[in-house]
Amino acid sequence: MALDKLQFDNRFTRQLPADPEVDNYRRQVYAACFSWVKPSLVRQPELVAYSREMAEQLGLSAADCETDEFSQVFAGNRLLPGMEPFASCYGGHQFGDWAGQLGDGRVVNLGEAVNRNGEYQTLQLKGAGLTPYSRSADGLAVLRSSIREFLCSEAMHHLGVPTTRALSVVLTGDRVRRDMFYDGNPQMEPGAVVCRVAPSFTRFGSFQIFTARDDLDTLKQLLDYTIRTDFPHLPEPGPDVYAQWFAEVCQKTVEMILNWQRVGFVHGVMNTDNMSVLGLTIDYGPYGWLENYDPDWTPNTTDAHSRRYRFGNQPRIACWNLVQLANAIYPLVKRAQPLQQAVDNYTASFEQGRQKMMADKLGLAAFTVEDEALAADLLQLLQTAETDMTLFYRGLADLTAENAVTVFLDFLAASSYAELSAETAILAERWFSAWQGRIRQDVRPDAERRAAMNAVNPKYVLRNYLAQQAIDQAEQGDYGMVSELLDVLRQPYADQPDKTRFAAKRPDWAKQRPGCSMLSCSS
Ligand code: AMP
Ligand code: MG
Repeated sequence: MALDKLQFDNRFTRQLPADPEVDNYRRQVYAACFSWVKPSLVRQPELVAYSREMAEQLGLSAADCETDEFSQVFAGNRLLPGMEPFASCYGGHQFGDWAGQLGDGRVVNLGEAVNRNGEYQTLQLKGAGLTPYSRSADGLAVLRSSIREFLCSEAMHHLGVPTTRALSVVLTGDRVRRDMFYDGNPQMEPGAVVCRVAPSFTRFGSFQIFTARDDLDTLKQLLDYTIRTDFPHLPEPGPDVYAQWFAEVCQKTVEMILNWQRVGFVHGVMNTDNMSVLGLTIDYGPYGWLENYDPDWTPNTTDAHSRRYRFGNQPRIACWNLVQLANAIYPLVKRAQPLQQAVDNYTASFEQGRQKMMADKLGLAAFTVEDEALAADLLQLLQTAETDMTLFYRGLADLTAENAVTVFLDFLAASSYAELSAETAILAERWFSAWQGRIRQDVRPDAERRAAMNAVNPKYVLRNYLAQQAIDQAEQGDYGMVSELLDVLRQPYADQPDKTRFAAKRPDWAKQRPGCSMLSCSS
């Protein structure tokens, strides 16, 4: 069998406490990190897409992925030798409030695959049916959200943003009932399963649940295990090492958030159960990409009122989430000071990283005090002119200190969604001449600056409307655009002159279309 070459070594289930109840019904699960549960059988698996790179990393060839066995396994119909499926238990704060037990409500983990380099990757199926953690929901996922998760995971990876990966998306052949905008209009939609891949899927909420239940014994087991497996460079676990571990999680989180800010990604649901301790972008739901630069934007209609998870608030929310994690492990560290120190470092480190990121995006060799105004004025300008963030930074690389200001004004108008008013044009002229003065100071050859800018400012991102077009076609049985997008997004920093239609401004029709700029948690 083609897939028998996948080797499993299931450390998580071997080393951590299991729920003794093996019947699959919804319940509170105590003193256990997971429950044994099998994926549900589905009617008729059909492969929609797979990631060649992810497959290769697991030791699978393209031919292996195109077998019926592959679709059966990654739809959940067949288990390979060594797979020992389970759902994990976690809790979390949702939109700022403690929500109690959440857990893998529609995810079934298959096991930990070990490749020929000895690298561990947990494989899990999202949309694989009911588990003890399904609460009032159905355990399933629909095609649209599965394609969105699949494409974005891989796009983020190629952009250099830390993320969980996706191996495949498979139609189940079953229909799933969804009320997309919770407005009493449910529809039947095609069901699908995504195979997600990461070294581990441990979340902030994985720790919070035990502290909330005063189960310090299981809390310690999970933390010791996490340090030994996911942070093997750290010394043997103990109170000081727990604090050191937390400091590392803070640093990884800084890096993830900076990357989101760099590429214009809005996660949409930064609940503490959706925060990975490895600093990976996890749980792609109602996420979106900034089109017109707007720090107040969120694609998530479920959060439209308070906009807790808006683009510009992500750094602050990540910090809030880290504080919740600090509180969760405090009973093991027993000292607030090192935890507080790590949180303070988050803020300082983010600030430092932000300056470096802005310098890189603007093509400056380094960030100086005066550049603060240059950066702030630009963000104000982009917001006022409703400028497409991706197009702007990418296009700026082609301008030089020699260009006439009219060149800049034409470029800005072409990459903006609003008409440039006379007032905005004045701000724009002023900004451009300041930028020209600034790059002149750097005395760096234009070609070198351009190459450096193009390495941090992607040309291609998963524009919201492109994902929706690929979904519309896939729902009609045509997966061509899913593959084509996946392909373009493999090299987001390359020019790819025959693919420029994927680097175009959002068309007008997409501005208000559900799925393009408005999404909900219904998936
Ligand atoms: P999310 O907001 O997608 O991170 O989900 C929050 C919680 O709800 C997690 O515990 C999920 O496993 C669970 N959940 C979301 N959708 C479903 C579903 N269709 N069936 C069962 N559980 C779900
Ligand atoms: Mg989640």
